[in-house]
Amino acid sequence: MKGRSLLMIPGPTEFEPDVLAATGAPTVSHLAPSFVEAFAGALAAMRQVWLSPSGQPFVVAGSGTFAMELAVASLVEPGDRAVVASTGVFGDRYADLLARHGAEVRVVHAPVGEAVDLEQLEDAVRSTSARLFTVTHVDTSTGVRTPVSELGAIARRRGAICVVDGVCSVAGEEIRQDSWGLDVVLTASQKAIGVPPGLALLVAGPRAIERFEARRTPVRSYYGDWGKWLPVLRGYESGAPGYFGTPAINLVAALAVSLQRIVSEGMDARFRRHEILAGAFQAGVEALGLPQVPARPEWRAHTLSACHLPGGVSLSEFVRAVGESGVVIAGGLHPDLRDRTFRVGHMGSVRAGDVLATLGAVEAGLRAVGRPARPGAGVEAASRFLASVAVPSTLGAR
Ligand SMILES: *Cc1c(COP(=O)(O)O)cnc(C)c1O
Repeated sequence: MKGRSLLMIPGPTEFEPDVLAATGAPTVSHLAPSFVEAFAGALAAMRQVWLSPSGQPFVVAGSGTFAMELAVASLVEPGDRAVVASTGVFGDRYADLLARHGAEVRVVHAPVGEAVDLEQLEDAVRSTSARLFTVTHVDTSTGVRTPVSELGAIARRRGAICVVDGVCSVAGEEIRQDSWGLDVVLTASQKAIGVPPGLALLVAGPRAIERFEARRTPVRSYYGDWGKWLPVLRGYESGAPGYFGTPAINLVAALAVSLQRIVSEGMDARFRRHEILAGAFQAGVEALGLPQVPARPEWRAHTLSACHLPGGVSLSEFVRAVGESGVVIAGGLHPDLRDRTFRVGHMGSVRAGDVLATLGAVEAGLRAVGRPARPGAGVEAASRFLASVAVPSTLGAR
């Protein structure tokens, strides 16, 4: 039996061979012309992927948590009021992080499994005169997607900067940064972007850059100071690269390859592929009798699914049994759901066959823990769904 398995967790995801090959190419100087070209290409491609022609992309070594920090460390000043819309673990993390940078934070909590109510969010921003607010687009701990298309309008009405934690959404869920007026949209390499872990990525719009330039106090983070990175990033794009901290050269080379794939697939086709494959997977788990954590269908993310296990089933036993079929899935993450839910990532280079294989493995897992479903029920429902909506050419990740 082969040692390979299919990685279907909410990051890291499966990576394409040419992306992985780029990480293994000989490491060149950070000033080598070939690297300058790759880095400039990656930055330009980020504007296309974020649909933000006016944005300033940042690529800095770090995980998604660092992208969260990079997004706000240069924007908040001690004593600033900030509002965090929390749908789970990563919203709470943002509240902690902002407080660490001296912000006075108000958290608007959505009940577990629900999206944040945008009126409640705007009320909190208004009543606190917050200068910044954050929203987790897709909460990886609940599988809930909060709509973000109106956030730019809220930010402008209230004179605040909006920050979207898109770690589990960028390049999978529909995001139109410029036309939706989103000030900062951040992610990390290992999720729908399709590059091994290690890069913090974000695009800052003009209002965010203006806010940064108008600050009165020094940025408290050294490594996360936009002032250190901006000249370097702009230099790479103008052909005059500078130095602040050594870039993660091999990962940036891989990023350039992956972003090119994403751009050539086309953003609309990519959003649609994620929507269709999520629909297929979610039809499958429903047919297997596994309720989903998001309380309403419109809150179900397209990049991952979070499902309840039947009562009395041991999560670790179930996840292990699914793994026996060669498919790696994740357990729960939210403290209220941890032992009773499992999570499946379906983002990045995912294809219809991956979703069907995962449903087959989930079915085998249910059988192994003594809760069998009708054989083939999940795969059948997903196949029916695919047959009803899919144009085959929209389903091949390129
Ligand atoms: C994964 C994730 C993070 C954290 O990313 P790390 O790379 O694990 O630091 C933050 N926010 C969301 C929404 C995520 O899905």
